[in-house]
Amino acid sequence: MSTEPRTITLATSDFGPVTLTCPAWCAGHSHHDPETARADLMHTGPAVDFTHLGTTVFSAEIVQSPHAAPGPAHLGGRTPGVSVHPLGKTLDPVQIFSLAAALDRYADQLRDLGDQLTAVLNGGAE
Ligand SMILES: [Zn+2]
Repeated sequence: MSTEPRTITLATSDFGPVTLTCPAWCAGHSHHDPETARADLMHTGPAVDFTHLGTTVFSAEIVQSPHAAPGPAHLGGRTPGVSVHPLGKTLDPVQIFSLAAALDRYADQLRDLGDQLTAVLNGGAE
């Protein structure tokens, strides 16, 4: 495997061809739209999807926009973050662990609902 930096040249709507050096986690730019502005170019890692019964409930991936203008971190930017859909936010490590903890709590609530439903179906609760 090559240790050379992986570069890619992408067409942009405002700066013409722009060459990026992809981080090791970048899954490539196969879906690049040449009408993308340079500030919107984005490295994207492999998606981690939570799909249940055919519906994608959550999708998350590491992203970085190397030419983004400075701005609120939750909108993505030059610092890598984890983009979470459908939240529509890019989270830092503390925030992504907080989301995981919230999902753990939600899973407990779902189990409680399952217990409650079982009781309802068995005539044990109203
Ligand atoms: Zn890349």
